Amino acid sequence: MLTIENGLTKESDVSYDIAAIRNHFPIFEESEREIGRPLAYLDTAASSQKPREVVEVLTKSLLLEHANIHRGAYSLSARATERYEAVRATVARAINAKSDRSIIFTRGTTEAVNLVARSLESWFQPGDTIVLTMLEHHSNIVPWQLLAERRNLKVVFAAIQEDASLDLNDFIEKVRTLKPRLVSFSLHSNAFGTVPPSEEMVAVCREVGATIFTDAAQAIVHGTVDVEKLDTDFLAFSGHKVYGPTGSGVLYVRPEMYQHMEPFMGGGDMISSVTVEGSTWAEPPQKFEAGTPAIAEVLALGAALEFMDRIGRGAVQNHERELFQRAWELLKSEGLELYGPANNGGHQSSIIPFNVPGVHPHDIATIADTFNVQLRAGNHCAMPALRRVGLYSTVRASIGVYTRLEDFEQMIEALRHARKILS
Ligand code: PMP
Repeated sequence: MLTIENGLTKESDVSYDIAAIRNHFPIFEESEREIGRPLAYLDTAASSQKPREVVEVLTKSLLLEHANIHRGAYSLSARATERYEAVRATVARAINAKSDRSIIFTRGTTEAVNLVARSLESWFQPGDTIVLTMLEHHSNIVPWQLLAERRNLKVVFAAIQEDASLDLNDFIEKVRTLKPRLVSFSLHSNAFGTVPPSEEMVAVCREVGATIFTDAAQAIVHGTVDVEKLDTDFLAFSGHKVYGPTGSGVLYVRPEMYQHMEPFMGGGDMISSVTVEGSTWAEPPQKFEAGTPAIAEVLALGAALEFMDRIGRGAVQNHERELFQRAWELLKSEGLELYGPANNGGHQSSIIPFNVPGVHPHDIATIADTFNVQLRAGNHCAMPALRRVGLYSTVRASIGVYTRLEDFEQMIEALRHARKILS
């Protein structure tokens, strides 16, 4: 039975009230009014649209509640601090972290990876190996390469198959033989929608005592993320992809790892004492949050995670899985070249990369825009993955909580037009 609370479906629902959900995103109505066609926003994997309640928290915080945190003795500052720290608890609940102490606020996934790569610098020993996979986003490659240069480490990539699924045997063999100090991988590829077998991957990392970093930039948007079940040491995601604002993000740290981590940036708020002779550090997570943070953005991130909770992560996952399946079939019947593990029955969701034979991806995206269809074209910040499967660029359609089959139908209309005029 469909039950709606504040216009949102509840997790137990079998049906998913997409119209009610879309009503939370003013951009759809506004864009249709302005352009004269519905907005088929198919680029959630790059950045999601924002629901009204997230923006309301952001504006309210700036207009009516603003003060710096962790500083003032006055009540406005104390209340801002309370709200900010309450979001730490909301995040911990959302990813099933045992303690709020494990949650560091960052500007996003990229900053979180850089934070770990910097702060663990002296924990790595020259000659150590870091294992990544060929599926990674550049932000889960470049910070490790920079670290490898500084500390004389080796960065090794586990292979992927022709269909952009992980080559699990290669991953297992590399981890077993190289015994890396750290392994980092994405739980959901932004370029191909691949969902790698994280359970098996974590198991082999544990076998050799490797520390594990997981990139949940996409996984947090499309389903459930549970750091305890996953058994990861680090996990990162960005607020702007999960219906929150830019400038907000999260790094989860297993508390035992803190003892190896040096400060990432120095400044106010991260110290215990400062003298002319030297300084000592605050306890984590403050040790890693130097300076005034993005207070309003963090509060709005909390609202975004609560928004997701009200829809229900299980309901989101079901909706996206079902829509992915239907959209995949629809696009296949149009004769498009579709990429990813779903071609061979593998695990892929929420992201459909494709090409239209004879038409350049950028031309597709430009023409689609004239139909008010938003698509991403390019290498999706995953050059190694694309090159491995013999591609330079693809068009990518990605799904969010508000995506409908009609969006894909509108896209097909645009693609037919593009084909007619360009091929
Ligand atoms: N990892 C993955 C899998 C991503 O999809 C992205 C964003 N496209 C990032 C990392 C980087 O996220 P951000 O740019 O928000 O730091």
